Amino acid sequence: MGAHRFNRRATLLGSAAALLLCAWAPGPAARAGCFDVRAPIYRELRPLVMQNPSRALAEVKARMAALPPEAAQSEPGTLAALYAVRASAFGELTLTHPQRAAARAGLALLHDPTDPLRLELLANYGSSFSSPATITKALVEIKRARALLPPGSRSDLCLEADQGFMNTLRNRTSLAIRELTQAYMQSIANKLPMARVMASEGLAVALRSMGDDHEALNYIRQQIEWDKAHHASDDLSGGIYFKGEILRAMGRYHRAIAALRQARAISSSVGDQQGTAYSNLRICEINIALKRYATARRECERAVPVLTAGEVASMIKETHVQLARIDLAQGHPRRALQLLNHVLDKHGADMVAFTVAPAYLVRAEANAALHHYSGAYHDLSTYIRLYTAQNRGNQTRLRDALEVRFQAKQEFQRNAVLRRKLQVASDEAIKQKQLLLWMEAAGVGGALVIALLSYIVIADRRHRRQLVVLANSDPLTGMPNRGCTAQLATAALIEALEQSRPLTVALIDFDYFKTINDQCGHAAGDHVLREFAHLSRGALRAGDVLGRWGGEEFLLVLPDATLDSALATVERLRVLALGIQIPCPEGKITLPRVTFSAGLASTADGARTLDEIVARADVALYEAKDAGRDAVRISRARALGAPAPRRA
Ligand code: GH3
Ligand code: MG
Ligand code: MG
Repeated sequence: MGAHRFNRRATLLGSAAALLLCAWAPGPAARAGCFDVRAPIYRELRPLVMQNPSRALAEVKARMAALPPEAAQSEPGTLAALYAVRASAFGELTLTHPQRAAARAGLALLHDPTDPLRLELLANYGSSFSSPATITKALVEIKRARALLPPGSRSDLCLEADQGFMNTLRNRTSLAIRELTQAYMQSIANKLPMARVMASEGLAVALRSMGDDHEALNYIRQQIEWDKAHHASDDLSGGIYFKGEILRAMGRYHRAIAALRQARAISSSVGDQQGTAYSNLRICEINIALKRYATARRECERAVPVLTAGEVASMIKETHVQLARIDLAQGHPRRALQLLNHVLDKHGADMVAFTVAPAYLVRAEANAALHHYSGAYHDLSTYIRLYTAQNRGNQTRLRDALEVRFQAKQEFQRNAVLRRKLQVASDEAIKQKQLLLWMEAAGVGGALVIALLSYIVIADRRHRRQLVVLANSDPLTGMPNRGCTAQLATAALIEALEQSRPLTVALIDFDYFKTINDQCGHAAGDHVLREFAHLSRGALRAGDVLGRWGGEEFLLVLPDATLDSALATVERLRVLALGIQIPCPEGKITLPRVTFSAGLASTADGARTLDEIVARADVALYEAKDAGRDAVRISRARALGAPAPRRA
């Protein structure tokens, strides 16, 4: 992706959009190196584009100057490769006009429609557009190119994923998810990791735009892991930035800040000022949410000059809305109003649609603070109208996303079965291999398919009962899955609040889990999770709930538990975890034992919703990690007189 894709994401993904269920997101472009470009000069310079696009541009200039004047005739391949490097470098720097010019110049030199270099240029050309009409044109080109490629080949799948990106950008998200899911599954079946990463990134963006943050996070993690392993710093900063965005939308502010800081450090280390500014803006927003206004102002003000020099009006306006929020919070409503009048001067016509509603809300507050009540009323009505209209769309989009993903997987499976039958008829040996590949592919989507099954109306009651069990439980551990845990926790919380009884939750996250996976294999990690689920069953009371909250993170809900008794329960679980044997070959593992960190929060400190209480536990968990792990921390939002956080 790199900055260009990342830029569109940032453009369309929102600011005060945390207010909305769903943010309309995306950003396309050829993932660097998705196509198998062989030109030596391209292979040499491509890594530099990812590490430092400005230096890559200087290098291209020098190399072009060294070519003979008739290079277009004598060495078209070399010249085109240099144009491809230039186009990608401009793309990384979010300079779409020169990117397009370079891509066009390169395309004019190459005539073989299946040449990967030509496809790379084509993808760059496509990614330099952002308005729906122009994207459509680029899409036509891409479809034409695909028609000439062997179906399921690396180039074909890279372009299919690219098509998905573009359709997300055109707001054709259902179509996009269908294409991306196909590309994703097919690239797993055909063992094409590069295409898979590109598709998983596309899925992350598309799913996020449909409000499915959890799935989006899963897919973006795949991209981050890949980029880390392949030292793709610019793609990596974009991926981590996006992870920060998703965490922010989920209200996990401290983790979001950590991710955004990391993204910013990488961006600035490669001289990517735009990327740095986007991270500043998002960190600013989170600090506003955390009521740290001085820090927020510093971050937003740092972003302004860079964004002003860039191309994207809506981003600057978004920053102004944030600055207005800070002014308002710091008692300068007049200044806030001035900024907002400027932001909304064309009713926000030059802004991304879903960022407009929050701007009206802030202006309503500013007007109210200045006793302009009719203005405030007017702004508030506009806000409510826009907000309701968008939320209705969001619900529909989320439902569509679920449906289309389910269908795409079914379709893929049907095709795979057909293919398999053909193979059986022709060659027994190939059949066996296909079968294995197929099983692998089916395994990947298994959990998802099960979750989606609950959306289908099934007449047979018995089946339906089985499905309810499947849809509510996590297939690996048999524990309640996230959705089910949230339901149980909400019910317990409501009861506790109604009866004025205490309730404590603990968010538990295993320490250095990646090390277990890396050193002993994923199966060892799975074993630890299963063992933990198994052992914990005997350690809890009947009303307690322990559910898989995601990955190696668990939510423990303890009705009627004070902080002290909750600490004792967590301690029991901690001792059980310590006893889990990691199945690992002799000498392979550097971790002495299985440990976790936990954050506790209780209703005693005023949390009234599940989101609130989990967010507090998350902050405490973050502190436990920060303190060196294997630790338990209690939310500091607790009322005065709380015991000091302590180590378990
Ligand atoms: P930290 O101490 O900071 O929590 O480090 P960590 O390595 O545990 O990092 P983090 O919590 O960010 O990552 C969790 C890892 O757990 C990432 C993912 O690969 C792995 N994981 C998530 N779900 C599963 C699973 O179902 N099985 C296995 N084996 N690994 C999983
Ligand atoms: Mg962990
Ligand atoms: Mg984790």
